[in-house]
Amino acid sequence: MVSKRDLSVTLSRLKGFEDPSLKDEQYVTDSEIAGDILWTAFMSGEIEGKTIADLGAGTGVLGIGSLLLGAKKVYFVEKDKKAADILKKNLTEISSMSEFKGKYEIVEEDVKKFSKKTDLTIQNPPFGTKTKHADKAFLEKAFETSNMIYSFHKTSTEDFVKAITKDHGFKIQRIYDYNYPLKNTHIIHKKKIERIKVSCYKLIRQ
Ligand code: SAH
Repeated sequence: MVSKRDLSVTLSRLKGFEDPSLKDEQYVTDSEIAGDILWTAFMSGEIEGKTIADLGAGTGVLGIGSLLLGAKKVYFVEKDKKAADILKKNLTEISSMSEFKGKYEIVEEDVKKFSKKTDLTIQNPPFGTKTKHADKAFLEKAFETSNMIYSFHKTSTEDFVKAITKDHGFKIQRIYDYNYPLKNTHIIHKKKIERIKVSCYKLIRQ
């Protein structure tokens, strides 16, 4: 098993998006934040031996971190081929580590089509800045396929997350607030690193 420090360091070395799509809001989750939330879930016994879905997996930070913490199987669901190709490279690289024992499957399709039941969904979907509520399909899918969800959203959309959670018979068990760095991956960001308020919601079926 990796330590919390090694987890974040290993995640920070993974390849990110090469040519990130602005429309799909392709941002890699910061490795410290990913490491923090994964470690929290791990310490609560929610990762080791579990089947996990990483919806909108991108280059794989959340799912790969889960595998390093002993997940039994991870489904990486990603519709963008370029991102999936980088994810495959990251998985090849990381699979030589002795901590990496679980299985995985890369599902190259829209999250709407995913249908596997899992113990846990961990997701950092598009925040819906470009397309309003782009994260809605992700939450709806997670409510359908698992009983526990860790999901990142812009803190400003809290009312939306609360309402949709209630509508689907789930409740918010905890909220983890972060200052999320958006690295200068898109030309339109003038400042080098902009930080936005992002919350990770732990949702459980009632
Ligand atoms: N989870 C990754 C990537 C976050 S960016 C990380 O934490 O680093 C969001 C990802 O969701 C992008 O890779 C984007 O291509 C993908 N995505 C957006 N809409 C999608 C959809 N409808 N189905 C599947 N993937 C989608």
